[in-house]
Amino acid sequence: MAKLILQSGRERSVLRRHPWLFAGAIAHLSGRAKAGDTVDILADDGRALGRAAFSPESQIRARLWTFDPEETIDDAFFKRKVAQAVERRQALPELVGQQGLRLLHAESDGLPGVIADQYGDTVVLQLTSAGAEKWRSAIVGALQKATGCARIFERSDSEVRRLEGLEPVTGWLLGEAPKTPLVIDENGVRLGVDIAGGHKTGFYLDQRENRLLLRTLAAGKSVLNCFCYTGGFSLQALAGGASEVLSIDSSEPALVQAEANLALNPDLPAERAQWLETDVFQALRDFRKEGRLFDIVVLDPPKFAPSAAHAERAARAYKDVNLFGFRMLKPGGLLMTYSCSGGVGLEMFQKIIADAAHDAGREARIVRRLAGSADHPVALNFPEGEYLKGLLVQA
Ligand code: SAH
Repeated sequence: MAKLILQSGRERSVLRRHPWLFAGAIAHLSGRAKAGDTVDILADDGRALGRAAFSPESQIRARLWTFDPEETIDDAFFKRKVAQAVERRQALPELVGQQGLRLLHAESDGLPGVIADQYGDTVVLQLTSAGAEKWRSAIVGALQKATGCARIFERSDSEVRRLEGLEPVTGWLLGEAPKTPLVIDENGVRLGVDIAGGHKTGFYLDQRENRLLLRTLAAGKSVLNCFCYTGGFSLQALAGGASEVLSIDSSEPALVQAEANLALNPDLPAERAQWLETDVFQALRDFRKEGRLFDIVVLDPPKFAPSAAHAERAARAYKDVNLFGFRMLKPGGLLMTYSCSGGVGLEMFQKIIADAAHDAGREARIVRRLAGSADHPVALNFPEGEYLKGLLVQA
């Protein structure tokens, strides 16, 4: 096996079990290794630190599979890791019985570059690193064994694969397309999931707990749901007794699915729901002119900052959308606001929201800090895993 020898002092992050090694941390490669091959990681004094997947095209040159220099990376390794991740979720009562569930959350489950989401008996796999790509069939076998799923679909078409020199790949890895559309029950609401054409693996499972929180807040309230995608928050608001729910998204297919989702739930009062296909920034400007106000405003925008380098521009976009959001709120209203940008940390996000409130001339207070659902854990040795953050703010 080839050896990757680190620069002096650069073993420190590995000793703290951070799984990434950037190009600048590496002194040299001893032996030959291709993209995705397993390499031994050595400190400059020759001490063995663990084993990693080599990624010659990426700035993240290696991702550690294990911090045990003796552990073999083979099919059995992936069986163990996948089984443990599934068991951890089964040990959390709130996740037991969820039909939509993230099974593998990459680095935070000890599997860099591997994401797997379960929708009923179908698992959607996304591989984003050269190492994950190399072990595709081992991961598929492990997922099948741990879940007993009937089908596995690959959605490895995320942009980040380019940084690894990987082409987009999609298609069935196990079984074939089901005859009927895929539908999950999320806390009493039925939602269709387009695993082949939808965003990410088809659905935003990370907001499950937050959608449920909205349900508990919505009775008798008017709700504005911005960036609604397929209506997850909107339907929970209706289930919670909202008096009206106006949902906005710029994506036509997302709204077509949202209306189909509403139809899947005949118990919900469809007449209280309204869908608007437009740009949120434009819509909120127009509403302001019309003087429209809501009891609850949800803002769940897309990732404005893919990395810390984009943070400044993203900060302006977050500031603007939250400023508009505050202006839409009735006195005493609630703003439920999120950022899923890894490059925007919690402290920065809170500051942006404070600036937005100030510019809107609103005095407001945080009544809850919000995060991703429990099946999207953040490993303590991998703080980068904390991408989704939110605040519930009372004006
Ligand atoms: N809250 C959703 C997930 C939102 S994802 C849920 O719980 O499922 C972000 C959404 O913002 C996507 O559906 C995308 O189509 C939409 N979007 C991105 N930019 C937009 C814009 N400028 N105006 C309106 N919608 C936008």
